[in-house]
Amino acid sequence: MSMTTQRRPQTLAALISSGELAGFRPGQPAELLSGINDIDPEVCAASRCELCGQRGLTLRPFTLWRDRRTGAWSEYRTFAECPMCAHVSEF
Ligand SMILES: [Zn+2]
Repeated sequence: MSMTTQRRPQTLAALISSGELAGFRPGQPAELLSGINDIDPEVCAASRCELCGQRGLTLRPFTLWRDRRTGAWSEYRTFAECPMCAHVSEF
């Protein structure tokens, strides 16, 4: 993702409608529910919005599933969403 200087929030809705998250579904692979992923909500909660400075962001994980029935996945992305301005930044 190319990062340009932005004044307006980059929202999840905009990311989704732009096709940036095409094929991704909200959620995270089961094996990431323990381990490295445990830290993300805490990191989010302690982070500030890069746009408006609000502290306390919400974790928004997205997974590109290869086969959801078997739990096979090919890509995992996490975003932090600002509760004030709805800006999201990728972790
Ligand atoms: Zn914000």
